[in-house]
Amino acid sequence: MMESWLAQHKNSITDPHQLAEHFAVHAGELAQVAQRYPLRLTTYLLKRITQPSDPLGQQFIPQLAELNNDVAQLVDPLNEELLSPVPHLVHRYPQRVLLLVAGSCFSYCRFCTRKRKVGCEDMAVSFGDILKGIDYIADHPEVNEVILSGGDPLTMSDRLLEDILKRLQRIAHVEVVRIGSRAPVVLPARITPALCEMFGRYQPLYFLTHFNHPAELTVEAIEACRQLVNAGVPVVNQTVLLRGVNDDATLLHKLFYSLHRLRIRPYYLHQMDLTCGTGHFRTRLEDGITIMDQLRGPLSGLAVPTYIVDLPGGHGKVPVTPDYVQRLGAQAQLRAADGTLIDYPQW
Ligand SMILES: *Cc1c(COP(=O)(O)O)cnc(C)c1O
Ligand code: SF4
Repeated sequence: MMESWLAQHKNSITDPHQLAEHFAVHAGELAQVAQRYPLRLTTYLLKRITQPSDPLGQQFIPQLAELNNDVAQLVDPLNEELLSPVPHLVHRYPQRVLLLVAGSCFSYCRFCTRKRKVGCEDMAVSFGDILKGIDYIADHPEVNEVILSGGDPLTMSDRLLEDILKRLQRIAHVEVVRIGSRAPVVLPARITPALCEMFGRYQPLYFLTHFNHPAELTVEAIEACRQLVNAGVPVVNQTVLLRGVNDDATLLHKLFYSLHRLRIRPYYLHQMDLTCGTGHFRTRLEDGITIMDQLRGPLSGLAVPTYIVDLPGGHGKVPVTPDYVQRLGAQAQLRAADGTLIDYPQW
């Protein structure tokens, strides 16, 4: 019998006309966008979207604005292609690598950093590619942490995931594994007792998920995370700061405190990358700083994430605090880990 999550995954909405049956959207316009950036959302999400402008609607229903090409936006803002010594592996920090094990997701977030390729042909990952990535890791003793990402690694079967975890476990210098997945938000049924039990056998394994709005904390999502934590798998969260979705201190306070109570550690709050086709979601750096200022103090320190900017050009992540570097009119300058000052547009 097909697992219920797999049946749900296969049943997802991928045709703009299906969306037009539910919402006041223009199927022709949606199709134009979906041709460039794939459309997919689970029926689980569909049931929870009341209109395209609500927090989930904005994150998953395509908008014409995605076709705007701002000159300041980049197709590959983090220079991941250049930092890939072998396909689907990004090695930017000596001690840890990102291994992109899956090319697709259960639902496509319209603001995705990798929207240039996620769900597309050139993102498809073969098992041979994964093995080459694992060989690269085995050949690099400085790597002690591997981050499985994609796409969404949980689109793979438990068997394949376990195969990868087993191979990584055999490499003595790999001490910690992280697995990044938005399944708890978009398809909580994917977090089965069998999956949690398997993950529990590969400790220390961190589960890195991605809640952006309190409305995503449904009974099902909460149960999925509870199962992971109970199985010995710490759950940490990254949130992307999205204009018109969650760029509000009261709302984020509620989100981070709720996560904290559920034993999910708010890890990063990301400033939107300069990814092409995502300009309509981008906030100004100052807005994020103001929000962080309002959280620190009223909110338990354990629930306060680090606000970070992933610098354009692959210069790495930098924390942004109110005393961040200098303002130069429409630009800010941020200091990369190697000391270089990088221009960053203010928006
Ligand atoms: C974000 C990222 C990491 C992990 O960084 P942490 O600060 O440890 O979470 C590693 N490699 C790449 C390429 C990344 O983008
Ligand atoms: S789940 Fe992650 S990789 Fe997939 S579309 Fe959303 S942000 Fe991108």
